[in-house]
Amino acid sequence: MSILRTPTPRHLASAFAAALLVLLATHAHAFVRTMTCTPPGETGGTLTCRDGEQPLPLYWDAPCIGYHVHQDGLETLGPETTHEQVHRSFATWNDVPCSWLRLVPRGLTDEDRVGYDACGSSRRNANVVLFREDQWRAGDSAPIIALTSVTYIVRTGEILDADIEVNAAHFDVGIVENPFTSRHIVDLQNALTHEIGHLLGLDHTSPDDRFVGDPDTWQEAAMHALTRPGETRKRTLHEDDIAGVCDIYPADVGHPDGDCRLDPTPDGFFVRPSGELRSSCPDDRACGCTATPNHSHGPPALLLLVALLALRRRTRPL
Ligand SMILES: [Zn+2]
Repeated sequence: MSILRTPTPRHLASAFAAALLVLLATHAHAFVRTMTCTPPGETGGTLTCRDGEQPLPLYWDAPCIGYHVHQDGLETLGPETTHEQVHRSFATWNDVPCSWLRLVPRGLTDEDRVGYDACGSSRRNANVVLFREDQWRAGDSAPIIALTSVTYIVRTGEILDADIEVNAAHFDVGIVENPFTSRHIVDLQNALTHEIGHLLGLDHTSPDDRFVGDPDTWQEAAMHALTRPGETRKRTLHEDDIAGVCDIYPADVGHPDGDCRLDPTPDGFFVRPSGELRSSCPDDRACGCTATPNHSHGPPALLLLVALLALRRRTRPL
């Protein structure tokens, strides 16, 4: 029997507040890998380790992973321009020679649900970028710009699914052409490049003297936790971000499977080639709280759905 735990928005807000305090109190930062859980008594994570659980770093166990983009895109940009911005953001992480992982576009989708189908016939669900224009997630007290939800196996840290939501209901999301005249606009590529770092298994930069590069430039890291409308510097990766992704997926080691070969059709949510959700799950409730053995190596795995901390609007002026 496996359990799916979902952190509440209150937990997320508390974790973010703790992380923000630490960030403001230090001068040097380094890349941080997202862990399966945080030991009791420590701050910065979204979930506390249970008795017997050891924190493990998250990772994708594949030479490449695919992603889908919601077909509508942003209303203000139109589908074509929106999709171009999304692909640019993913391409930024692909253009890292020391990393072997490749992110591959799989096309458009009309599905708008976030989550993981634990009962599908395939262990690979589609990873989707969605745009919330009319309503943001209910229950989130403080508006956030974007959110990445990652599902992984607690026992190993292997990521099974990651979906990104962009909050266009509370923010004017678009393209910052000029930082002086577009100060009210949240740059889509800027936000997505940060969120894709979460998708890959990176957490926010954290106090550490291992920061790669000049400590005075730590705010330029794409995985820095804070942003504001008008910002574009997260469109490009800082050397600390590059060090992070290459620490997880080192090209000089490579993946045992070698070449990039994606499943012909990802199963589970977000893929409806026939217009209907395909699932082998007998009912919705069972899908939401159990994991079938084909999603784990050996015994059924404990799955966690983690809504990672997102880019949040900066509450004080620069
Ligand atoms: Zn973030």
